Amino acid sequence: MSGPELKGSCHCGAVHITVAGPPAQVTKCNCSLCRRTGWIGGYWHPDAVTVKAAPDALNPYVQGDRMITTWNCRTCGSHSHWTPITASPDRMGVNMRMFDPADWRHLPVQEVDGAKF
Ligand SMILES: [Zn+2]
Repeated sequence: MSGPELKGSCHCGAVHITVAGPPAQVTKCNCSLCRRTGWIGGYWHPDAVTVKAAPDALNPYVQGDRMITTWNCRTCGSHSHWTPITASPDRMGVNMRMFDPADWRHLPVQEVDGAKF
Protein backbone atom coordinates (compact mmCIF):
# COMPACT_ATOMS: atom_id res chain seq x y z
CA MET A 1 0.00 0.00 0.00
CA SER A 2 1.41 3.37 -0.96
CA GLY A 3 0.41 6.82 -2.02
CA PRO A 4 -1.86 9.42 -0.53
CA GLU A 5 -4.91 8.55 1.50
CA LEU A 6 -8.23 8.26 -0.30
CA LYS A 7 -11.35 10.00 0.99
CA GLY A 8 -14.83 8.93 -0.01
CA SER A 9 -18.41 8.98 1.13
CA CYS A 10 -21.81 7.46 0.53
CA HIS A 11 -24.18 9.27 -1.83
CA CYS A 12 -25.89 11.41 0.83
CA GLY A 13 -22.72 12.14 2.79
CA ALA A 14 -23.82 10.55 6.07
CA VAL A 15 -20.95 8.04 5.90
CA HIS A 16 -17.36 9.15 5.27
CA ILE A 17 -14.53 6.71 4.68
CA THR A 18 -10.80 7.42 4.62
CA VAL A 19 -8.22 4.77 3.72
CA ALA A 20 -4.46 5.04 4.16
CA GLY A 21 -3.68 4.66 0.47
CA PRO A 22 -4.87 2.98 -2.71
CA PRO A 23 -5.02 -0.82 -2.77
CA ALA A 24 -2.73 -2.81 -5.06
CA GLN A 25 -5.80 -3.98 -6.95
CA VAL A 26 -9.58 -3.83 -6.88
CA THR A 27 -11.87 -6.85 -6.83
CA LYS A 28 -15.02 -7.56 -8.77
CA CYS A 29 -17.04 -10.52 -7.53
CA ASN A 30 -20.03 -12.30 -9.04
CA CYS A 31 -21.48 -13.61 -5.76
CA SER A 32 -25.19 -13.15 -5.05
CA LEU A 33 -24.61 -10.01 -2.96
CA CYS A 34 -21.85 -8.26 -4.93
CA ARG A 35 -23.64 -8.64 -8.25
CA ARG A 36 -26.72 -6.94 -6.82
CA THR A 37 -24.94 -4.08 -5.07
CA GLY A 38 -22.41 -3.33 -7.81
CA TRP A 39 -19.62 -3.83 -5.31
CA ILE A 40 -16.03 -3.21 -6.37
CA GLY A 41 -13.84 -4.02 -3.40
CA GLY A 42 -10.59 -2.82 -1.96
CA TYR A 43 -9.10 -4.48 1.12
CA TRP A 44 -7.14 -3.04 4.01
CA HIS A 45 -6.13 -3.80 7.56
CA PRO A 46 -8.84 -2.25 9.75
CA ASP A 47 -6.22 0.10 11.26
CA ALA A 48 -5.82 1.68 7.81
CA VAL A 49 -9.53 2.52 7.47
CA THR A 50 -11.50 5.28 9.20
CA VAL A 51 -15.29 5.26 8.97
CA LYS A 52 -17.03 8.39 10.23
CA ALA A 53 -20.78 8.17 10.66
CA ALA A 54 -23.39 8.94 13.27
CA PRO A 55 -24.19 5.93 15.51
CA ASP A 56 -27.42 5.11 13.68
CA ALA A 57 -26.28 6.04 10.17
CA LEU A 58 -25.24 2.54 9.17
CA ASN A 59 -27.42 -0.51 8.70
CA PRO A 60 -25.77 -3.93 9.20
CA TYR A 61 -26.46 -6.84 6.89
CA VAL A 62 -25.28 -10.33 7.79
CA GLN A 63 -25.89 -13.16 5.37
CA GLY A 64 -25.51 -16.91 5.12
CA ASP A 65 -22.21 -17.99 6.59
CA ARG A 66 -22.09 -14.99 8.96
CA MET A 67 -18.40 -14.34 8.19
CA ILE A 68 -18.74 -10.59 7.64
CA THR A 69 -21.10 -7.71 8.30
CA THR A 70 -21.85 -5.62 5.23
CA TRP A 71 -22.76 -2.01 6.08
CA ASN A 72 -25.04 0.24 4.11
CA CYS A 73 -26.19 3.80 4.70
CA ARG A 74 -29.64 3.98 6.24
CA THR A 75 -30.41 7.18 4.32
CA CYS A 76 -29.17 6.60 0.76
CA GLY A 77 -28.61 2.83 0.75
CA SER A 78 -25.01 2.93 -0.46
CA HIS A 79 -23.08 -0.23 0.44
CA SER A 80 -19.96 1.31 1.92
CA HIS A 81 -17.85 -1.38 3.57
CA TRP A 82 -17.74 -4.68 5.36
CA THR A 83 -16.17 -5.74 8.64
CA PRO A 84 -15.19 -9.26 9.78
CA ILE A 85 -17.22 -11.39 12.17
CA THR A 86 -15.58 -14.81 11.91
CA ALA A 87 -13.46 -13.82 8.89
CA SER A 88 -9.85 -12.77 9.50
CA PRO A 89 -9.71 -9.74 11.83
CA ASP A 90 -6.75 -8.47 9.78
CA ARG A 91 -8.83 -7.48 6.80
CA MET A 92 -11.88 -5.42 5.97
CA GLY A 93 -13.40 -4.38 2.67
CA VAL A 94 -14.38 -0.99 1.35
CA ASN A 95 -16.52 -0.39 -1.72
CA MET A 96 -14.27 1.51 -4.13
CA ARG A 97 -17.39 3.12 -5.58
CA MET A 98 -17.47 5.40 -2.53
CA PHE A 99 -14.33 7.10 -3.90
CA ASP A 100 -13.77 9.26 -6.94
CA PRO A 101 -13.28 6.87 -9.88
CA ALA A 102 -10.11 8.79 -10.75
CA ASP A 103 -8.63 7.38 -7.53
CA TRP A 104 -8.94 3.73 -8.50
CA ARG A 105 -10.02 3.09 -12.12
CA HIS A 106 -6.39 2.70 -13.22
CA LEU A 107 -5.79 -0.14 -10.75
CA PRO A 108 -5.64 -3.81 -11.81
CA VAL A 109 -8.97 -5.62 -11.50
CA GLN A 110 -9.16 -9.07 -9.96
CA GLU A 111 -12.25 -11.03 -10.98
CA VAL A 112 -13.40 -13.31 -8.15
CA ASP A 113 -15.74 -16.19 -8.91
CA GLY A 114 -17.65 -15.81 -5.63
CA ALA A 115 -20.79 -17.36 -7.10
CA LYS A 116 -19.34 -20.85 -6.78
CA PHE A 117 -18.83 -20.58 -3.01
ZN1 LIG B 1 -25.79 7.88 2.57
